[in-house]
Amino acid sequence: MEITEKVAYLKGLAEGMELDTEKKEGKLLAAIIDVLDDMALEIADMKADQEELYDGLDAVSDDLEDVEDAVFGDDEDEDEEDGEYEEAEEDEDCYATTCPTCEETIYFDESVLEDGEVVCPNCGEKLEFDLNGLEDADDEPEDEE
Ligand SMILES: [Zn+2]
Repeated sequence: MEITEKVAYLKGLAEGMELDTEKKEGKLLAAIIDVLDDMALEIADMKADQEELYDGLDAVSDDLEDVEDAVFGDDEDEDEEDGEYEEAEEDEDCYATTCPTCEETIYFDESVLEDGEVVCPNCGEKLEFDLNGLEDADDEPEDEE
């Protein structure tokens, strides 16, 4: 039984026993039942509010899942399907080196590294990379052919 129903039952009892609200005891009981009635109604309101809150939280949670899918999910599918070109270019690592001629810091990406050389934008000096030296940084001894 809901609290509101219990209070309604109490009210009915009080009415049935013809509570004399002119007497002290009757007044007290009527006042108590009145307070109980208010409390029951407020609790019912709070329950309704809480349910609304939960519904709102559910909606937010669902939206967040969509966002998570968009940001983190579907990686496997995208890698297999399209996007390989665009993403490869955007996600490339950036490197920096110092020009030995003018000591300007030069920034370049992986494609430059693969070419093996970069032209200093400051003085025009052509810098060449020792690709083997860069890639064999780990100490695995490998037989070259
Ligand atoms: Zn330079």
